Amino acid sequence: MNRNKCLICKSKNFVVELINLQFSNYYINKFLSSYYSINAYKKIKIELNNFYYKILKCNNCHFIWQKHIPKEIFMKNLYEKFIDKKKSLQKSIDKHKRSKLIDQIQIDQIIYLLGKSRKIKVLDYGAGWGHWGINVQSKNIDITCLEYSKSRINYIKKLKLKTLKLKNSNQKFDFIRCEQVLEHLTDLNDVIKSLFSMLNKKGIIYISVPNGNKIINSEKFSNEFIKKGPVQPLEHLNCFNNFSLNKILEINRFKKISIIKLIIAKLYSNKLSFKKIKSILKDIYNYYYGTALLYYKD
Ligand SMILES: [Zn+2]
Repeated sequence: MNRNKCLICKSKNFVVELINLQFSNYYINKFLSSYYSINAYKKIKIELNNFYYKILKCNNCHFIWQKHIPKEIFMKNLYEKFIDKKKSLQKSIDKHKRSKLIDQIQIDQIIYLLGKSRKIKVLDYGAGWGHWGINVQSKNIDITCLEYSKSRINYIKKLKLKTLKLKNSNQKFDFIRCEQVLEHLTDLNDVIKSLFSMLNKKGIIYISVPNGNKIINSEKFSNEFIKKGPVQPLEHLNCFNNFSLNKILEINRFKKISIIKLIIAKLYSNKLSFKKIKSILKDIYNYYYGTALLYYKD
């Protein structure tokens, strides 16, 4: 699959090529061999021997993307078979042990913004192993996890969380969380459209992606960017900064929640703590410079 046009403004007029390298290139091999297990690296090398890593940028939208995408079956195998699942699961367990308090602060902010006393329907879109849901679940929060990966869905079911297979579901939610998902998608616009349709009126969406600002603002694409990060080969197909993430959400009719509202919601939900003050400062940074944004449906 090739993606020639800008995925945000749909135009070719502002598109420039930043880099075009064959997969046998030194820097790409350096990344693949350090990021994946030896077995996975060998399989990738065989299957993508004649593949190119080509990065395009739209100067109008400040959006960066990988032009060539391997076949669907390869991408499926990459996430389901090549990536070490045991490691990935352990990483998720450790991460969410550390983030429990921050996750709680975030969900309290959302509850305050929604202003609902009844049960809130939450969708974790791209839920991974489902640990975020475990961190925030309570009697007032009804969590559903949407996940493409079969093994992860099976794990989530064991955690006794609700699951959803299809992105085009009739179900609607008051809050959708989409953490580190958009950068992986080959069908970016379809997913954003279905996120919009799955959100209730006045519902809130949280979208977070790696911040590619440094790469987007660089005059030249450096080979040093080919590492674990916003444009890493194979997995990070779409790369945003604050400007482009705002733009794609606004084009798709989402409305931004004002920074004043975000701060008030954090200050008035639960007691003040050092972690909470830190998270308010993070909200301010994200609002103006970051790639973790909160929007709602009008
Ligand atoms: Zn564009």
